[in-house]
Amino acid sequence: MAKVLGIDLGTTFSAAAYMDPQTGMPKIIPNSEGKTTTPSVVMFDGDDVVVGEQAKSNSMLDPYNVVQFVKRNMGNPDYSFERDNGETYKAEDISAIILKRVVADAEAYLDDKVTGAVITVPAYFSDAQRKATINAGQIAGLNVLAVINEPTAAALSFGMSKAAAGQNIMVYDIGGGTFDVTIIHVAEDGKMNVVATGGDRNLGGFDCDNALMNYVTDQFEEQTGVDMTDDDEAMQELREKCESAKISLSQREKVTVSVSACGKKAKVEVTRAKFEDLCAGVFDKTRTIVEIVMDDAQMRPSDLSKVLLVGGSSRMPAIRNLVRQQLQMEPSCELNPDEAVALGAAYYADLLCNGQAPAESEPARAAFSGGAPRAAAANIPFTDVNSHGLGVVIWDEDSQSEINSIIIPKNTPIPAQETNQYSTMQDNQRCIDLRVTEGDDTDLGYVTMIGNAEIQLRPHPAGSPVAVTLGLDANGVICGEVYDLIDNVKVGEIQIRRQANMDDGEVEQHRRNMAKINPV
Ligand code: AMP
Repeated sequence: MAKVLGIDLGTTFSAAAYMDPQTGMPKIIPNSEGKTTTPSVVMFDGDDVVVGEQAKSNSMLDPYNVVQFVKRNMGNPDYSFERDNGETYKAEDISAIILKRVVADAEAYLDDKVTGAVITVPAYFSDAQRKATINAGQIAGLNVLAVINEPTAAALSFGMSKAAAGQNIMVYDIGGGTFDVTIIHVAEDGKMNVVATGGDRNLGGFDCDNALMNYVTDQFEEQTGVDMTDDDEAMQELREKCESAKISLSQREKVTVSVSACGKKAKVEVTRAKFEDLCAGVFDKTRTIVEIVMDDAQMRPSDLSKVLLVGGSSRMPAIRNLVRQQLQMEPSCELNPDEAVALGAAYYADLLCNGQAPAESEPARAAFSGGAPRAAAANIPFTDVNSHGLGVVIWDEDSQSEINSIIIPKNTPIPAQETNQYSTMQDNQRCIDLRVTEGDDTDLGYVTMIGNAEIQLRPHPAGSPVAVTLGLDANGVICGEVYDLIDNVKVGEIQIRRQANMDDGEVEQHRRNMAKINPV
């Protein structure tokens, strides 16, 4: 019987899991090197494409043919990686190559074909980033059953055996590239309902590596008089050394980083206290995000039963101390930070394929978002929320400027549908240029335009009421309708064209181009 997987497509590492029929519990699939995680690093080596440990260790020797941290560029239409022979790859292509390696290893381990997968995304991923993740799966030849938020997947893997009704659980997920905080309430029926979520898609261990690198290059210059920052190869090497120094500092009080660049050598000593000082900016940002999510959930620390730590960077003692101080409780390390997300996704993938169909009104059908093809219905054990507000651009009479008017605020359980009422500005106004936004600020400088449409209006006096309805369906697909409230008729619909993403034809084209790539 073919298998479905849960795949944690991480910034720095990826992992895959499946539902073990023998135990009825999800299980991590070791890769072909016997490891439970595979570095999300791709190396182009002549005709060969290498993913994982070997690619990561070669990143120093051949930095121009190695791609890392591509997750940070998902949904960015301007990103492309050009290898030595001039071939270019979009972020979706690179992610597809990583997925191909993970799936090939799983097929070898399971001795079975993998047909579909649930892929995890940071809760804070935007609509375009979710869609790009789905497209990556499709380019890899996978049937993407759904994308699920990483903290929700982690909570599922915890909740399968341990969550008790009435508990509020915080999932504190700090990985290599992203930070997510999610508060989940366990309902009487055991269903996990996300109450609030927030985060920063560009905050994680990578930023601590950068802070340490800056310090070490300054010290190197002080000791040798040489600025090494233009030496790309030496900087790549330094990145690896700083990451491993950071990891050592989670156990040890002091490490020494040996640097050699431009024919000079130096040794830089770093204490844990100094490292924590260097990363103070990163830690401050995490503190602020936790505050915002607690406010959004209208909770105090005493309302939380548990804080589950997830993500490799949660191993840093400073993070654990921060959580202890801020939330006044001992954070729980009972989840394996590298595996919990893939395990929860595998559980969900199995439910989607083998679960029972819910009643049509079942709100939990909305639990996943992101525009994946609709999977087989299942008794989905959670409800999620949107992590960004959705709105439209309007003219504000008071400020005499255009502002963002939020129609579906963030943290609204999905599927969601909300309506706001506006007025026309001129007599016999013939049309409105409706622009849909994603973001939580009224200032247009802080939101993203995700689509627009010109809607024809019926002639009425200025100030006539018009209603705009925005909807977010179970797959995260956004739709909108405009109503004339004088004649009580629908006058137009909004089709969101995601300029940041590939269309179906492009996805198919990239899938065909990538079919020849079988990474090892
Ligand atoms: P993830 O994205 O969850 O795979 O987390 C990867 C990040 O966790 C990378 O930035 C790693 O350097 C970091 N990491 C892994 N183990 C440790 C550790 N023991 N101490 C500090 N950071 C770690």
